[in-house]
Amino acid sequence: MVVGKVLFSPEDIQNKVMELADEINRDYRGSELVAIGILKGAFMFFSDLVKHIKIPLTIDFIIASSYIKTDTTGEVKIYYDLREDITNRDVLLIEDIVDTGITLNFLRERLLSRAPRSLKICALLDKKDRRVVDVPIDYKGFEIPNEYVVGYGLDFDDQYRNLPYIAIFKKKV
Ligand code: 5GP
Repeated sequence: MVVGKVLFSPEDIQNKVMELADEINRDYRGSELVAIGILKGAFMFFSDLVKHIKIPLTIDFIIASSYIKTDTTGEVKIYYDLREDITNRDVLLIEDIVDTGITLNFLRERLLSRAPRSLKICALLDKKDRRVVDVPIDYKGFEIPNEYVVGYGLDFDDQYRNLPYIAIFKKKV
């Protein structure tokens, strides 16, 4: 497997992050936010995004996974759960990529059962063609084709997360 075509440069990503932060700042003006990052994949996106959010916020994380190498197992496992009480609070769930939608849908329902005042979703990448479960994405970065991507937090077998760009990951020919 090799890192192939670069889809988004560091500059493309930063521009998009700032656009998304502007929308979030506008929509949540006057409120306080609990920003929840879904690890490990969202760690870079999460930290870049919150740097540009100007409203008071607290942060928390969930570690969840349904993937082995490049395939979804369809079953979401939680390895670390929230420490914040989100009851009656405005929550923004921050994800790296939505593929089948199974992970986000599972986490969304799990968080909704804790009665937040509001729950919105921000995802950097959307692989729309692969969707199995319909899940609302309130703040969306880029739509991408049905290709496996790595970089900017996204891994293959836990590697490549440190790449500053997002690229297609290909089987060697
Ligand atoms: P879903 O549950 O929507 O099928 O998958 C969401 C999770 O699968 C993401 O958080 C991410 O961890 C992983 N995933 C889905 N597509 C890709 C991809 O193209 N590249 C990488 N590195 N991970 C992916």
